Amino acid sequence: MFAIAIDGPAGAGKSSAAKLAAKKLGFIYVDTGALYRTVGLYMTEHGISAQDVKAVEAALKEITVELKFLPDGQHVFLGEEDVSDKIRTPQISMAASAFSSIPEVRSFLFDLQVSMAEKYNVLMDGRDIGTVVLPHAQVKIFLTASAEERARRRCLELEQKGQKVSYDEILADIQQRDYQDSHREIAPLVPAADAEIVDTSDCGLEEAVERILTIVYKKLPNDSVDFPG
Ligand code: C5P
Repeated sequence: MFAIAIDGPAGAGKSSAAKLAAKKLGFIYVDTGALYRTVGLYMTEHGISAQDVKAVEAALKEITVELKFLPDGQHVFLGEEDVSDKIRTPQISMAASAFSSIPEVRSFLFDLQVSMAEKYNVLMDGRDIGTVVLPHAQVKIFLTASAEERARRRCLELEQKGQKVSYDEILADIQQRDYQDSHREIAPLVPAADAEIVDTSDCGLEEAVERILTIVYKKLPNDSVDFPG
């Protein structure tokens, strides 16, 4: 199997660019943030605090999180419920970030992520894919952009979905999430030593996809990967 790991901070355009690049390559796109969001959703709905690690551990024993790849892309299930849309709110973004610093949460989701890469050629995006989940990924990319540009993009995205947002709040959320994600003890958000850094502050989606594909094509062995797409 061939694995492409794309890590980077919130709102760097990872998911849009990764989704398109995966489609062009015929790879399965795995959005690992959706898994952390699903855990965040469950804990939020059940009034469990990220400070209460015992309650978190007990809750993890009760839940199943599953990924399904449907014709329109990845769907994430919490038990029987498709929560793919429900997890896309600023509140759940913050919850995902808070619960993702708990080692038990990370190990709960680890096997699921590794098993995807064992079954499929994957393009997986997250925060620790190149450093922890798939340290042997053939391609590692760290996709980033300035916090201001990321906040601007996130505002636009949420507005297009009909949500009312404030730029200042979104920027503050992004800065807080960046801080939490890069300062946590376990699997902090840092580029892998062998990752290529792609800064998308000055470029649109198409160019970001092109930059990703250029890196991927450079590292592809000519004849060893069977591309379905
Ligand atoms: O990528 P997304 O913004 O959906 O991720 C939500 C949160 O989940 C991140 O802020 C981060 O705290 C956490 N996360 C993580 N490791 C990953 C993917 C996401 O810790 N591989």
